[in-house]
Amino acid sequence: MAKEYIYKCVNCGSEYTNQEILYLCPLCAKENKEGQPLKGVLKVLYPYIEIKNRLEIQPDYLIKSDYIDLLPIHTVDSFPPLLVGKTPLYTYKQEGNIPFFLHLKVESSNPTFSFKDRASALVSAFAKEKGIQTIIAASTGNAGSSLAGICASQKQKAIILVPEKAPKAKLTQVLMYGAKLIPVKGNYDDAYDLSLKLTEQKGWYNRNTAFNPLTIEGKKTVAFELFEQMDVFPDKVFVPVGDGVILAGVYKGFEDLLELSLIDKIPQIIAVQAEGSSNLIDNLIGEEHHFNSASTLADSISVDIPRNFYMARDYINRFQGLGIKVSDAEIIDASQYLANQFGLFVEPAAAAAYAGLIKYQIEDQIVKDEQIVILLTGNGLKDIDSVFKSLDFPKPIDPNSFDLDMI
Ligand SMILES: [Zn+2]
Repeated sequence: MAKEYIYKCVNCGSEYTNQEILYLCPLCAKENKEGQPLKGVLKVLYPYIEIKNRLEIQPDYLIKSDYIDLLPIHTVDSFPPLLVGKTPLYTYKQEGNIPFFLHLKVESSNPTFSFKDRASALVSAFAKEKGIQTIIAASTGNAGSSLAGICASQKQKAIILVPEKAPKAKLTQVLMYGAKLIPVKGNYDDAYDLSLKLTEQKGWYNRNTAFNPLTIEGKKTVAFELFEQMDVFPDKVFVPVGDGVILAGVYKGFEDLLELSLIDKIPQIIAVQAEGSSNLIDNLIGEEHHFNSASTLADSISVDIPRNFYMARDYINRFQGLGIKVSDAEIIDASQYLANQFGLFVEPAAAAAYAGLIKYQIEDQIVKDEQIVILLTGNGLKDIDSVFKSLDFPKPIDPNSFDLDMI
């Protein structure tokens, strides 16, 4: 039996049934040009009225079934055997001038140490149900390493195309997981274009972020978890933002819950971008867009063209989201603070979200006793080079003769 859901184009509103594998809206995809955000990104919609009716009879059925009716797969058994999601949420009462509740959602607990596993797991499960054995992705690092690990656990083949200058550290994971790594001459766009060609010619399934609507669907599961884990619903969620897919995923999860009247409002989402890579929040209004080339040490959110621009912008504008920019120095400070105050060593992109909160506090925008969530999207060991420079590595001491006061 076909699973009930449809795809809706974020640009033209066209709707499509789920009879075949669909990536972008075929009507809008024709308009796509190199160096521009993707047109025709699809949103997956479910039979919300039916689900709502069932919830009236059995209020806990969605939670008990791991939200299967809000996912485009038939059974959760298709997911990888590794534990993806269900990540810890640590809560701290923050005292000070304006006390509030801080909740840290630690996504580095995912199998390949980043949030991207949520998308890879769903893409992998979908491919498994469709009988497709090989999944391809163009990636600058993290999405590729995630897909490689998830595919290894599912005995699927992963083909990862990376721009030739992708950092070695990120590629190490890809190779360790046994994926086929193909460096491509040129930049991400060149790797991306080649991945589309291979998808068409070889019949492989494509995990390119935003291009495959399931990447957004996979990422939305974090909102379901927050809904379950928190006694009091969050007022604000700080999300690090690059291409706009994680941001849209968080919104989509809350939007599904809103459609089902399980919540009565969507939390305010604070989109945190690096000052050197703020192409999404700089273009929230108007029809003319200007995208500058990105430069920030927070590699995972360093994005020239926010691929999921239209959907992310629509969400921010519709639900009164907010954009905040943080400098690289603020990101490194936040990274050290999270590590030495909470024992959480996260990658710079994740620290950016916390840096956003610090800025928000300085601007006195926090309301007393509000519930604030920070999405910590990846592990610090993925990118140690960026913090090396800020650390003082002590010189060795002579164990037989040293000054006690030195220790
Ligand atoms: Zn369209």
